[in-house]
Amino acid sequence: MRLSIASYLLLIITVCFLIQFQLVRMEEMTHSVKEESEAEEQAREFYELYENIWKDLVYFPVPESTENEEAVVAYENSWMFERTYGGSYGHEGTDLMAGIQKAGYYPVVSISDGVVEKIGWLEKGGWRIGIRSLHDVYFYYAHLSSYAEEFKEGDVIKAGQILGYMGDTGYGVKEGTSGKFDVHLHLGIYIRTEEIRELAVNPYWFLKYLEQSKLRCSY
Ligand SMILES: [Zn+2]
Repeated sequence: MRLSIASYLLLIITVCFLIQFQLVRMEEMTHSVKEESEAEEQAREFYELYENIWKDLVYFPVPESTENEEAVVAYENSWMFERTYGGSYGHEGTDLMAGIQKAGYYPVVSISDGVVEKIGWLEKGGWRIGIRSLHDVYFYYAHLSSYAEEFKEGDVIKAGQILGYMGDTGYGVKEGTSGKFDVHLHLGIYIRTEEIRELAVNPYWFLKYLEQSKLRCSY
């Protein structure tokens, strides 16, 4: 039986269509494999950055008092608890609450070596200081009543150095706003990747680990 030209053409078109369809499928499959490995790569990157935090930890941020055994701090795992100042959002940190509710009483020391990256007033954080560690971790100490010295950006900080004193500043545009909440230290820990410039991680477990590394201080 002889096939007409039209039949040949139809056959060729059908074959071409099937090949095309198969190619598209194959491309889709390799694409999803590629996406998966990118996600894996990112997960590994985050894991390594997270691991880096442990390398920076030297001291618990609030030293133990040699004078007053009531001078304790208490904290819980309040990660992503609701906060409502200026709109509802999740709590990106851990609050170390002062047993003695006196602003300027408890010293706050640097957890790690590093340099001062940010200093000064923030509407939410009050008097804050941000230290960039050797492993590129950002430690954020907020609501201070005052600073230990006139720090400026770029100053080198040693772990255990007094940064300032625990207070209740913040929740106000006006510099020095205080008394809107209990005296406490808000600690934030942030890592960064090329895509994400600020990725908050939960400080609670790192603080638990640092319980064994408290400085003792006379206050
Ligand atoms: Zn807080």
